[in-house]
Amino acid sequence: MPYTPSSSRYTQMQYRRCGNSGLKLPAISLGLWHNFGHVDQLENCSNILKLAFDSGITHFDLANNYGPPPGSAEENFGKLLKRDFAGYRDEMIISSKAGYTMWDGPYGDWGSKKYLVSSLDQSLKRMELDYVDIFYHHRPDPETPLEETMTALDLIVRQGKALYVGISNYKPEEAARAIQILKELGTPCIIHQPKYSMYERWIEDGLLDLLGNEGVGCIPFSPLAQGMLTDKYLKGIPEDSRAAKSHGFLQRDQITDEKLAQLNKLNAIAQERGQKLAHMALSWILRDERITSVLVGASKPEQLADSLKCLENTNFTKDELNRIYLILSN
Ligand code: NDP
Repeated sequence: MPYTPSSSRYTQMQYRRCGNSGLKLPAISLGLWHNFGHVDQLENCSNILKLAFDSGITHFDLANNYGPPPGSAEENFGKLLKRDFAGYRDEMIISSKAGYTMWDGPYGDWGSKKYLVSSLDQSLKRMELDYVDIFYHHRPDPETPLEETMTALDLIVRQGKALYVGISNYKPEEAARAIQILKELGTPCIIHQPKYSMYERWIEDGLLDLLGNEGVGCIPFSPLAQGMLTDKYLKGIPEDSRAAKSHGFLQRDQITDEKLAQLNKLNAIAQERGQKLAHMALSWILRDERITSVLVGASKPEQLADSLKCLENTNFTKDELNRIYLILSN
């Protein structure tokens, strides 16, 4: 049976403006870093994407190297777009990135114009798309002049291969320069994608203020610390979890006894709020209005359905925040 999206898909989701741009993004977006490669089951990928779209998630985040193997998440996504979502491209915001190692030799990594332009061409071919909605430089390059990298983003927009551009993993000073150069080129940086969770709070030290002042959106990645900020590891490492998979980026040794003690204490506060730990971890990020969207991953549709419940309560009392910060500082 061909897939027909739920007719109520736009009634349950909140949409937030991305900085000062004309673009709105869903409060929850779906990332395809893990669980969408050739090592994964295509029908499971399809079911996660359908659940997402039915729930009002319009934004799907990819990168050239997502898989494994690298490139295969874009290939699978392209296949499913064609098979399940034909006719819905204009209701979707699809992003890709280049900046990490993608192919051998001097042109398949970092931030040269040569790499960015050819990598996006490859991504478009893999996804069978004419353009992406957002194209990011994935990480700063200490050797290529920032002007060259930003000029490449500007060129890509002028070529019609991306509608908007963004940066990822840039520290505040680098981000400020990139935002300024793009402004001068006439192609504004509309979004920054940093790592942010209860366990990684560096963006509170200058980056969020910069983005708020400059009118640039913010879409944090790994908000659940790759699954640690959920109840899944509280009683050991489940066989089907990211930490148990050899190709996963979360390693078993990151789940220490100290972390587990902390997670149990955070879980108790979540329960008092009537939430699960995953809900609290996501709603804690969305409490700040400078956050445009939270970029979650999911290995099953049920997980995504669960994470969406965070939208039911994104307010925190001062007392709750103080208790959370006390736990995190120990
Ligand atoms: P999360 O922190 O949301 O971790 C997702 C993982 O947590 C899932 O795969 C699943 O793990 C587990 N999980 C998710 N929901 C639940 C739930 N409700 N209950 C229990 N467990 C749950 O994010 P990711 O680390 O996956 O990153 C999200 C996206 O961010 C990526 O897909 C990518 O788009 C982007 N990203 C960008 C980067 C960049 O440099 N710009 C770097 C990394 C990510 P399990 O497999 O164990 O079930």
